[in-house]
Amino acid sequence: MTAPLVTIGLEVHVQLNTKSKLFSSSSTEFGHQPNKMTSEIDVGLPGTLPVINKEAVIKAAMFALSIDAQLNEKSIFARKNYFYPDLPKSYQITQEAYPIIGEGVLKVDNKEIRIERAHLEEDAGKSIHDGHSSYTLIDLNRAGQPLLEIVTKPDITSAQEAIKYLKKLHHLVRYIDISDGNMQEGSFRCDANISIRMSSDEPLGTRVEIKNLNSFRFIEKAIDYEVSRQHLALMNNEKIIQETRLFQESSGKTLSMRSKENAADYRYFPEPDLPPLVITEALIQQAKDNLPTLPEKRVQELMLSTHLSMDEAEMVTTSRATEYFYSECVKKTNTQSYKTIYNLIFGELSALINKNQKSIGFQSVKPEHIALIADYLSEKKISQPMAKEIINALWHTNNGSVDKIIQEKGLRLVHDDSKLIQLIEKVVHSFPEQAQQYKDGKTKLLSFFVGQIMKETKGNADPGTLSKLLSKYLKESL
Ligand code: MN
Repeated sequence: MTAPLVTIGLEVHVQLNTKSKLFSSSSTEFGHQPNKMTSEIDVGLPGTLPVINKEAVIKAAMFALSIDAQLNEKSIFARKNYFYPDLPKSYQITQEAYPIIGEGVLKVDNKEIRIERAHLEEDAGKSIHDGHSSYTLIDLNRAGQPLLEIVTKPDITSAQEAIKYLKKLHHLVRYIDISDGNMQEGSFRCDANISIRMSSDEPLGTRVEIKNLNSFRFIEKAIDYEVSRQHLALMNNEKIIQETRLFQESSGKTLSMRSKENAADYRYFPEPDLPPLVITEALIQQAKDNLPTLPEKRVQELMLSTHLSMDEAEMVTTSRATEYFYSECVKKTNTQSYKTIYNLIFGELSALINKNQKSIGFQSVKPEHIALIADYLSEKKISQPMAKEIINALWHTNNGSVDKIIQEKGLRLVHDDSKLIQLIEKVVHSFPEQAQQYKDGKTKLLSFFVGQIMKETKGNADPGTLSKLLSKYLKESL
């Protein structure tokens, strides 16, 4: 049985992280009591008029610039008509024939996934079916939230490739700070259009849409399930029906929801209450000013300026907050200890952040702390275990001081040769058996002695100096 050829197109709804909604001044904050974050406009009262939120337009423009997509000077809002309880106006304001963003490309592992378009639209409210058996509750806090819907051409050929594209897009929208990308809260949701055919000579098969996938794992499972379902149907000479399906998390299956509407069913027409959206030079400039150096370019910069490997530079750019933290450390180090800074951030500090479920921008170890600790490590004023101890102490103090912690805990490396030689003599003489074995050629025992002396100094001996003095002593005095 040959495997089918899979064709996937993705539509991603990215919720823009603006302060207010797309057409009203209501707050977009998540997690409030139902229907508290609504205005007359969001609930669709007659006589109210929508006003476009400039911040949302700038964020959409930032996305276009970040992937070098066509940013249309003029776009037009349209009404998409359908009746559903969580859509109070009975139409959604969206963009149809004239979207704000035209064609672009997102490169995934050297493959170009073409973006067909991206448009601005408002979100609908939420129907709450659980909790009451006899009726449905409506929460309109989400009604009017600004969405950027990003649509690919059918360029994706497997679930794995779909996930790679989505992760790249997710990283990008968070990095340029146009969305928080929170998938649990629905800030990044995906619809997948899937069709299969048995050979590339055949035309594309009938496509089926799976709606509202909001975790990478579910998206992968849903696509894989749908491909095998369609394949089995073809094997049994059944026809694939154009329809919308839902992914059921409990069974891992997709279930038929409704037969697919055609665009004509929505009776799209231009929104009479909004003028055409015009992108001015001034607005483009604002979008440019807000845009950080893009992750891929920043990786190259970091490799050049701070000598990180590509993997390390990619780690630094996993989020803008991490990139900012690292860059601040780099600015503050006096010894150019970039690699040490990297190791401190992704070692001890990351461990604390993960364990306590904090984020790097909201915790008490600051870039100046890490830079100073890295400097002290380079200058051999402190040891690695001491660095760890200092970071732990800083973690538990607000406005902590590295020097104060060093002083209070007595964390200074012993560099004093005479003091170390005294200790070496003492320790070597209290282990005569091991000393003899060392003399007989068991040179591995050097680390045993280092360990014993470290214990005596509570880890405060400089390991480099100690090893040097110790091997000299063992060679000469035995
Ligand atoms: Mn949409």
